Amino acid sequence: MNDEVRGWIGSARRIAVLTGAGMSAESGVPTFRDALTGLWAKFDPAQLATEEAFRANPALVWNWYASRREAIAKVEPNAGHRALADFQQRHPGRLTLVTQNVDGLHQRAGSTGVLALHGNIAADSWLDLPRNCCREDDVQAGTPPSCSVCGNLRRPAVVWFGEALPPAALGAAQNAAAHCDLMLVVGTSGVVYPAAGLARRAPGKVVIVNTGPTDLDEVADAVLRAPAAQLLPQLLAATAR
Ligand SMILES: [Zn+2]
Repeated sequence: MNDEVRGWIGSARRIAVLTGAGMSAESGVPTFRDALTGLWAKFDPAQLATEEAFRANPALVWNWYASRREAIAKVEPNAGHRALADFQQRHPGRLTLVTQNVDGLHQRAGSTGVLALHGNIAADSWLDLPRNCCREDDVQAGTPPSCSVCGNLRRPAVVWFGEALPPAALGAAQNAAAHCDLMLVVGTSGVVYPAAGLARRAPGKVVIVNTGPTDLDEVADAVLRAPAAQLLPQLLAATAR
């Protein structure tokens, strides 16, 4: 089956790749729930990762994200991240990378044009619509930092529960899925929107790479049960074309 999939990859003109939490877990990134250890054990992540929680207690939520940023800074992209980045370098414009992960590991591995559907935990944005006074180069230090004029707060640039996905990234991901010859779905259960929608819309072959069963197995042309860090280098290495 691996050889067959390698053949599909070799002949695909447009490849869309969607990655999820399993990919990050292989690098040792704590998953959303794993992260709640020590100081944070008594909190429910679903009640921290919301706009309501941030407005109710900005320092608490800011500090929680700071602890996640620290944890992520300590891990490295794995061989799966690197295989995707290498493929993009060898085949410019051929592979569009869509991720549900916020850890920035694809970017650190060297991938370009990453469509981060759930944002990037390393970046901040404004809590409320920025006014003329709100300037990123002139924020007042604090927990969290804020606009020194109007007090508008900085927040992690991730998509919280109840928030819409960034429209530009989502549109580009939908476009890539709709026009690909091959879609690789890596490390995601396929339950979380929009993974399911993107894969079901893909007109070409759909290949699942995951250690366990997914909701998308039934629509896939191939299901490969293996860690991404092990399998992606085999699938993507020096594909002739
Ligand atoms: Zn302001």
